[in-house]
Amino acid sequence: MSYNVLLLPGDGIGPELLSQVKKVSNFLEDKMDLKINYDEADIGGVAIDNHGNPLPQATIDKAKKADAVLLTAIGGDKWANVDFDIRPEAGLLGIRKEMGLYANLRPALVFDALADSSSLKKELVSGLDLMIVRELTGGIYFGSPAGIETRNGEKVGFNTLIYSESEIERIAHVAFKLAMQRDKKLCSVDKANVLNVMVLWREVVTRISKEYPQVELSHLYVDNASMQLVRNPKQFDTMLMGNMFGDILSDTASMLTGSLGMLPSASLGDTNPSTGKQSALYEPVHGSAPDIAGQNKANPLAQLLSFSMMLRYSFNEVKSADLLEKAIQNTLSKNIRTTDISNPTSVIVGTQEMGDAVVKEMSELLNK
Ligand code: NAD
Repeated sequence: MSYNVLLLPGDGIGPELLSQVKKVSNFLEDKMDLKINYDEADIGGVAIDNHGNPLPQATIDKAKKADAVLLTAIGGDKWANVDFDIRPEAGLLGIRKEMGLYANLRPALVFDALADSSSLKKELVSGLDLMIVRELTGGIYFGSPAGIETRNGEKVGFNTLIYSESEIERIAHVAFKLAMQRDKKLCSVDKANVLNVMVLWREVVTRISKEYPQVELSHLYVDNASMQLVRNPKQFDTMLMGNMFGDILSDTASMLTGSLGMLPSASLGDTNPSTGKQSALYEPVHGSAPDIAGQNKANPLAQLLSFSMMLRYSFNEVKSADLLEKAIQNTLSKNIRTTDISNPTSVIVGTQEMGDAVVKEMSELLNK
């Protein structure tokens, strides 16, 4: 199969990371029945430098045409003093909005070889494979009215937590479909004991569950969910939540894995009925790490795992995604590490050498 992918190299360590993606992609294109046509565009600081705008129209147009978009990260001190409206982050928020990306997928995967890096006991996190589905474009971060005003002689600040049935339905469908591809267990997180909007959330999720009878649905209040995540995270497979709860709990879940350089993410939007294509953007959770940019020190694994998510969820290239993830696991098991995930006995390698090691593992796995 052939796919069109837009690469957004962004700032800082971004271009170095994408070189490793290209390396891995070349290998897969050579060995598997797969062809990826790459295009590139500017976003973030580099786009400010080249176009005076963190999200040029040409980037938006290319992103909308592509089968999927692979972003690295944006930002850096160089652009700390540009106008607020054209700061690098505006490029990131802008592209999510332009592509209508309402579903954020945040996996928390603990590779056995890294289980010691977690702040939790090894036996609690070893083998953890959790997927958090966060609603990304609604809820309290976007609800109206919102503001700060003076009432009865003092300032009050307020925001509105609002979800419509259709917003809950579409994110619930994303979560149930993902649960179907995984262990068929979905936990929906709400606060239905206190918030009216969350009574509606629970009602709609329960209604949508009838369309997915194979998925075992449970509900948890957010306070209990946060406790359970650190008490016994392996009880969960797929979790569904609104924007604010997802913002907080996905970061909690990230830390269960112990390493920022290992975390991928995906953001998905609507499926175009005429092409059957779902808008999708994949990116690592970490930032542009300007402190190590250009030094061959960055860990490329979160970027490679984001690429793997793209293969799995946008292109259904499950064999290639499995191969890449297994190769990463084997590389880590051999204690080949970039500095950020190293221990005293590691073979410490740079960005390029880590990419080479993963390709070597893929080759060995295919030759077995
Ligand atoms: P950061 O994630 O870039 O870096 C935090 C620390 O983690 C740094 O010490 C860095 O060297 C290290 N690190 C990050 N990724 C790494 C990797 N792949 N391999 C090895 N080490 C890695 O966060 P920050 O320092 O707070 O932000 C730097 C810039 O990135 C800022 O301009 C910020 O706005 C931006 N940022 C962008 C995104 C994004 O594009 N999604 C996310 C977070 C931060």
